[in-house]
Amino acid sequence: MTKLSFYINGTWCEPLTSTQLLPVINPATQAAFAQVCLADTDDAQAAINAAANAFEGWSQTSLQQRILMVEAFLAAYQQRYADMAKAITEEMGAPASMSYDIQTETGVGHTEAHLEYAKAGLFEEPIGDHGQLLKEPIGVCVLITPWNWPVNQIVCKVIPALLAGCTMVLKPSELTPMSAQLFAECVHEAGIPDGVFNMIHGTGADIGSYLTSHPLVDMVSFTGSTRAGVEIAKSAAATVKRVSQELGGKSANIIFADADLSAQVELGVQFCMLNSGQSCDAPTRMLVEASVYDQVVNIALATVEAMFLGDPQQQGDHLGPVISQDHWKKVQILIQAGIDEGATLLAGGVGKPEGFEQGYYVKPTLFGDVSNAMTIAQEEVFGPVLVLIPFANEAEAISIANDSPYGLGAYVSTQDMGKAQRVARKLRAGTVHINMADLEYCMPFGGYKQSGNGREYAGFGIHEFQEIKAIAGYR
Ligand code: NAD
Repeated sequence: MTKLSFYINGTWCEPLTSTQLLPVINPATQAAFAQVCLADTDDAQAAINAAANAFEGWSQTSLQQRILMVEAFLAAYQQRYADMAKAITEEMGAPASMSYDIQTETGVGHTEAHLEYAKAGLFEEPIGDHGQLLKEPIGVCVLITPWNWPVNQIVCKVIPALLAGCTMVLKPSELTPMSAQLFAECVHEAGIPDGVFNMIHGTGADIGSYLTSHPLVDMVSFTGSTRAGVEIAKSAAATVKRVSQELGGKSANIIFADADLSAQVELGVQFCMLNSGQSCDAPTRMLVEASVYDQVVNIALATVEAMFLGDPQQQGDHLGPVISQDHWKKVQILIQAGIDEGATLLAGGVGKPEGFEQGYYVKPTLFGDVSNAMTIAQEEVFGPVLVLIPFANEAEAISIANDSPYGLGAYVSTQDMGKAQRVARKLRAGTVHINMADLEYCMPFGGYKQSGNGREYAGFGIHEFQEIKAIAGYR
C-alpha cells in the first residue's frame, strides 16, 4: 500500500519521530488504498525552518524568474493531468468526468490566470511626487487546505504565494493527500529551489496550533470550516500574523417570477448538487417568488428525480458519495433536523440510497416550505440537500438572502437586468451570479461575514501574499 510522507527542503522525507499513520479511504468503496504519515511538531518545525531559510533567496529572485518557474510547474501539471483526475476521484469520490473536466481543470485555469496577472508586472509603481510603491512578499506562509476541491484550493494558495516571492509550508487535508502528493511532485519537477515549497501531512488537532502560532510564520492562508477558521485566527493573534480565511457558506439563489424558470431552476438544482453538494459556494437555499412557487417545486423535483448516483470511476454526470463516514452521519443528522422541524420532504431523505449500501452515498434531497429560521436553512449541510424558501417581494428576498451568518456566494435569476443589478448590489456576499453566470478566473473569490475575510484568484490572490512598502524621496 502506498505510504505518503513529507516534502521538506526539496527532499521526500519520512517523519522525524512520529509513527502515526492514517489510512486513506476511497469513499465509494470504504476501502483503504493508501496510508499517510501524520506529522508531529518536530516535522512541522523542520518544514518551517526550511521555508524560513529559503526566504531570503527566493524573495530576491526577479518576478521574471518566478514566472518561469511557475510556467515549468504548469507544464509538469499538464503532463500529470490524467493522474491528478484519477487521484481526486479515488480519494474524495468526485465522478471521473467531473474530476477531469472541472476539478483538475481548475489547476490549469487558475495557474494561467495568476501568471497572466504577474506578467503585467504590477508589483511596483511610482506614487506621489517622489515616492515609490513596492509590493513585497510577506514572508513565510502556512497554507492549510480542505478536501472538497483539493487541488483547486492548493493551486489558489501555492501559485500566488510563489509569484509573490513567499516561501511556504502546505498542510493539505489529511483526507485527500493523493492529489497533494502529485501537486508536490509537479513543484519538484519544475525545479523550484529547495525549501521554497514544503509539504507536511497532519491533522488540525496534532499540528494545527503549532503551525498557526509559530513565530517564524508571517501569514496563514486557510480554507476550511468556520469552526477551524476561528481557532486559527485565535492561535495566530499573539504573533500578529496576517490570517486570510476562506470559510463556509449557505448561499442564497433568488428566483424571481420573471426568470427563465425551467432553465434557471434546473441549473440551480444542478449547481447545488454538483460535487455531491460539497462546494462552499453551492446555492443551497433557493428563494422562490411565491407566485411561481408551485411551478418551481415541480421543476426542481423533476430535476432531482432525474439525478442518479453512480460509481465515481465511471464517466458520466452522476453524483458520487460524500467524503467520509463522519461527514455522511453529519448530513443525515441535518436531513433529520429538516424533517423534525416541519419542512416538507419532497425527495430523498435519510438512509443509504437503494443499491448504494456500500460507500458514503446520500440521497439527493429536496425540502419544500422551508422557513429561513430552520436548521437546514441556517447551517451548512455540505451534502446534496436543497431547500426551497418562498418570498413575497424583492425586499423580502434580499432580507432572507442576507439573514445568514455566512456571505460567500449569492445567485439571482430574472430577465429584468435592472432588477438583477439592483439586487446584486444589496446582497452581502463576496460573489453574485446573475442568471447562473460562471465566475471567471480573473474575478476575486471570497466571503463576507463568517464566510471569511480573504480574496483569492489571480491578482487578488497575489495581493494577499504581499506587504505594501512606500519609499518616500525615491525619485
Ligand atoms: P476543516 O476546517 O475541517 O479542515 C480544513 C483544513 O484545516 C484541513 O487541512 C484540516 O486538517 C485543517 N484544520 C482543522 N482544524 C484545524 C486547526 N484547529 N488548526 C489548523 N488547521 C486545522 O474543513 P473541511 O471539512 O476540510 O472542508 C470543508 C469546509 O471548507 C466547508 O465548511 C467549506 O465550506 C469550506 N470551504 C471553503 C472554501 C472557500 O473558499 N470559502 C472553499 C472550500 C471549502
